[in-house]
Amino acid sequence: MIDFKELLKEHGIPPSLQRIKILEYLHNFKTHPTADMIYQALVDEMPTLSKTTVYNTLKAFAEKGVIVELSLFENEVRYEYNTTPHIHFKCIKCGKIYDISKTFKCLKDEKIEGHKVSEHHINLKGICKSCLENAKG
Ligand SMILES: [Zn+2]
Ligand SMILES: [Zn+2]
Repeated sequence: MIDFKELLKEHGIPPSLQRIKILEYLHNFKTHPTADMIYQALVDEMPTLSKTTVYNTLKAFAEKGVIVELSLFENEVRYEYNTTPHIHFKCIKCGKIYDISKTFKCLKDEKIEGHKVSEHHINLKGICKSCLENAKG
C-alpha cells in the first residue's frame, strides 16, 4: 500500500482528500485518463469536486513531478502515474493507450548526426492486441 498522503507531503503538496483521491485514481487506473475522465469517475463519490479543481490539481502534481503530463497524439492532455519514461501505443480502433515495456536504451547518451540525445519520446499507433483478436473471431 502506498501512503498517498505522505507522497504528496514529500512533494510539498498539502494532502487534501480530493487530491489524495485523484492521485489514487491515477495509480489504480493506468488508462492515461484526461482531466475530464478523472472528474467523471470521481464526481459521484465527491459531489463537491469541480472540474477546475481536477485540472489545477493535475497541473500541480505534474509540476512537482508526482505524475506525468502527456501530449501524445491529439491536442488532448492525458495524465499518468508512471513517471519512468516509456513507449506508448495507441489503438486507432478502440482508442486505448497502452504502455510498452520494450525500451530503446541504446538511444540514450548517443550522438545522432552530431546531436547528443538525453531523452526520447516514442509514440506508436496501430491496432491493439484485443482489437486484432476481435477481428479474427
Ligand atoms: Zn484496440
Ligand atoms: Zn504510459
